[in-house]
Amino acid sequence: MDARTIIDYAKSLDCVHCGLCLNTCPTYRLTGREPSSPRGRIHLMRSLAEGEIQADADFAHEMDFCLLCRHCESVCPSGVKFGALMEHTRAGLAALEKRPLHVRLARAIGFGVLLRDRGALSLAAALARVFAPARMPLRAERAYQPTLTPAEGERTSAVLMLEGCVMSEIFGGVNRATAAVLARAGCEVRATPQLFCCGSLHAHSGESSGARALAREAIEASEALCDERGAPLPLVSNSAGCGAHLKELAALFEEADPWHARAAALSARTLDFSQLLAREPQRSLLAARMRASSELAELSPIAWDDPCHLCHAQGVRREPRALLALLPGVTRVELAGSEDCCGSAGAWSLTHASESSALLEGKLEALRASGARTLVTSNPGCHMQWDAGVRRAGLDVRVLHLAELLELATRN
Ligand code: SF4
Ligand code: SF4
Repeated sequence: MDARTIIDYAKSLDCVHCGLCLNTCPTYRLTGREPSSPRGRIHLMRSLAEGEIQADADFAHEMDFCLLCRHCESVCPSGVKFGALMEHTRAGLAALEKRPLHVRLARAIGFGVLLRDRGALSLAAALARVFAPARMPLRAERAYQPTLTPAEGERTSAVLMLEGCVMSEIFGGVNRATAAVLARAGCEVRATPQLFCCGSLHAHSGESSGARALAREAIEASEALCDERGAPLPLVSNSAGCGAHLKELAALFEEADPWHARAAALSARTLDFSQLLAREPQRSLLAARMRASSELAELSPIAWDDPCHLCHAQGVRREPRALLALLPGVTRVELAGSEDCCGSAGAWSLTHASESSALLEGKLEALRASGARTLVTSNPGCHMQWDAGVRRAGLDVRVLHLAELLELATRN
């Protein structure tokens, strides 16, 4: 395979080298090195495509070092689709198979076994709870959703909820809270074991064939659940990373491929759960159930931390804040740099542990300065990263998913 062909050269030409993205990039801020910046990485990609450099270890390092946080996309005046460029490049690198054997073996187990099979992932999570309790909740949180959770009160709509792989294994309580809040907002919530992993971790890591296989499974599973008129249900995600991936699913398939249109249709009906709940009549139904309580007051003040794949990839910023503003007796404080990456980024926190800790330290400083007693997020990777950081720093701060807070506020 010719290494020059692994780059989406046309997309790379959108970059006009202005450098506006540099200071938003966590790896540039950590190192001060141009090749570790978005502009530098695009320059490397172009140089490879033009045959000026090789796809050597230095090139692979800079591509692996990117967190795929997509902060650069939020500020780019040229509309460079950096996430798509990077995923394309990583898929090409994976196909070149220049990684050491032990890395290829670890990737085969992670992407080919654990993230393809609920039972295998479940076993691995149980082992991790025993051997790495600092990184995992001590309690087994796993509990799959019932296939039907009826709407409470007036039924306004029906939705399909994505349980997710990591979310259902580690944050089963978040899934239960999400379904409860949706039901209280008048939604009939459907779930199906056929919809397991969305494949976002595969796509971010260059495992494009695994990502496509999981995308096809997700499309088929979601098309099978329809409303009274026979239209597939809206798909609701409570994980920023999964939602962002599902909203861009068609990029995995060539336009001539029949799966491309089906993927685009699934993307069009995918919503972050905050987007659905901030709409009418769901917002009003939820607001009507809100009750002040001592439990809620103890969590105040709260700070919202924007998950990268919610703010930068999905452009969702207003809706979570609008929902948090409904909480009675709770003050919200702004977190400085709330759109900066916390350093989780899937497996990046494991493969780049010291850099990940350095990024988290900056976020913890902002949390201390905010005076918040509760940190609110809506992505499992960020949730784990914050949990570990708060515990390590000995802070008296709770880390909650937005759904958990809304559930508490609407619990009668
Ligand atoms: S995705 Fe994030 S880490 Fe990667 S180049 Fe852009 S800003 Fe930097
Ligand atoms: S902001 Fe956009 S156009 Fe400017 S250097 Fe960065 S990626 Fe290129």
